[in-house]
Amino acid sequence: MKKSISDLSDDFYKGKRVFVRVDFNVPVEKGRIREDYRIRRSISTIEYLAKRGGAVILASHLGRPKGKVVPELSLKPIAQRLSEVLRVRDVKFVDGCVGKNVKDIVGQLAGGEVLLLENLRFHKEEEVNDIEFSKELASLADIYVNDAFSTSHRKHASTYGIASFFEYRVAGFLVQKEIEVLGKVRDNPDRPFVVIVGGAKIKDKISALKSLISKADRVLIGGAVAYTFLASKGISVGDSMIEEDFLDWAKEVMIQSEEKIFLPEDYVTAPSVGKRREIKLTYGEIPTGFKGYDIGQSTTARYTHEIMKGEGTVFWNGPMGVFEVDEFSHGTVDVARALALAYWRGAHTVVGGGDTVAALRKAEVLENEVDYVSTGGGASLEYLGGGEMPGISILNDKE
Ligand code: ADP
Ligand code: MG
Repeated sequence: MKKSISDLSDDFYKGKRVFVRVDFNVPVEKGRIREDYRIRRSISTIEYLAKRGGAVILASHLGRPKGKVVPELSLKPIAQRLSEVLRVRDVKFVDGCVGKNVKDIVGQLAGGEVLLLENLRFHKEEEVNDIEFSKELASLADIYVNDAFSTSHRKHASTYGIASFFEYRVAGFLVQKEIEVLGKVRDNPDRPFVVIVGGAKIKDKISALKSLISKADRVLIGGAVAYTFLASKGISVGDSMIEEDFLDWAKEVMIQSEEKIFLPEDYVTAPSVGKRREIKLTYGEIPTGFKGYDIGQSTTARYTHEIMKGEGTVFWNGPMGVFEVDEFSHGTVDVARALALAYWRGAHTVVGGGDTVAALRKAEVLENEVDYVSTGGGASLEYLGGGEMPGISILNDKE
């Protein structure tokens, strides 16, 4: 167990500067924030520290500026949104994350105030875990808090290198909650345990898939992932996306766990995503020249039937089809709605993955119709697969 901010005494924070690594990597288009779930999820940590008299220094990355200053990837609009979200507190912003100016501004920060630093990835040192850069960042504060679960599987300066410079390095509430919920799914799920997997690539999910398949009672497979499984059984999938490298693995899984694995039996297909006038619903096999872009109606009925029973745990990662396109979104939307129904019927439901969360929104499933929406995409899968999370391992252990 890792120490969290609530394991330090209430008066501990008074007059101290607290460096909080958050993940404010939210979709921003032309300076406008399209979606702010990750920002809202950081509120409890920020307010907890500020209320106890800590001077809160927030640091995050945004997008992939690759070590250069990219004005469109400035965190400035996020400081503005955070001010609005927190309402009372005026969030300050500084146009950098290291250097003299930043030091001066941090030096003037009073207890209870909140300051957001500029995009960490404007410096190439961040992603290579540069030790001098880590030290510079560390010199800004007295206490280190990691509340960026979604980057904790990376050894970056702000998630890893920095931590060793602090005697007190603890988890924020978001990180604590992610570990608690995903840890339960991984180690001790309420049964029956139903896993829904879809999305683009097995490659990105292989360790999580291995772990989840071995623990689940039922695994419902959709998305592009399904076609590799179908192909491994010798079913023709036309020109659908398959991953040659995982055919043998999928075949082995089907031999060992056939009874709990559900594969699609019908599909919404087209020659390409753009050729929507040629959409065909096919059953069994997909003809050459066509690709599967969604699960079909009878598959959807079979899957939703399993999901909406409302028992045990249901974990979902990866859309059932190319849900961004309306014609290929029905399977995903129906699965999302079945998940909401399962929640209302009493199942413990957990969702992870950036696109899967976007799919929930498309289905108009509200945040409070899911037990838990993880903020970590790759990080959640890494954690579920039992992989190492350097940004968490490096934190203080609970006594
Ligand atoms: P998440 O972000 O939730 O982990 P992924 O990134 O793995 O999910 O997968 C999401 C992407 O997978 C979506 O962009 C979707 O269009 C794509 N996808 C789903 N099904 C298919 C399919 N049959 N063929 C091609 N792409 C697919
Ligand atoms: Mg994705």
